[in-house]
Amino acid sequence: MSDSLIVACPHCHSRNRVPAARLGDAPTCGRCGAHLRPDTPFALDAGGFDAHAVRADAALLVDFWAPWCGPCRTMAPAFEAAARALAPEVALAKVDTEAEAVLGGRLGIRSIPTLVLFAGGRELARQSGAMPAQAIVQWTRAQLQAASPVRPNR
Ligand SMILES: [Zn+2]
Repeated sequence: MSDSLIVACPHCHSRNRVPAARLGDAPTCGRCGAHLRPDTPFALDAGGFDAHAVRADAALLVDFWAPWCGPCRTMAPAFEAAARALAPEVALAKVDTEAEAVLGGRLGIRSIPTLVLFAGGRELARQSGAMPAQAIVQWTRAQLQAASPVRPNR
């Protein structure tokens, strides 16, 4: 039974193996000591992106935004509130598409804000347009539930 997850560190991008059941126990990075599952969004650049989105298992929700984008700035507090609601299961990160244009291009980001959800090292879903906090949380949970190989008995 696979009950541990690869979790990348928001600070140094080292990959840590964490038992799934311990995700909520404020696990820290074995290399730098930073919290692995913060309840606030962290900035992600091209150098750290793959460690979190591709070479990790734990769920990651990325907000592709830009400083000049009004709807992006409007959504920022909602994204922060969603981070508090979704931690520790989901980490929330922000990619500034103005500073990271190559990364945005690689991901095929055509409009902002766009949210992209990753889990198990692959993209599960994406959604463009600003959303309130509750919609971000519900959309994320629905996508993770739909992708989960383990479905509840009913
Ligand atoms: Zn670290």
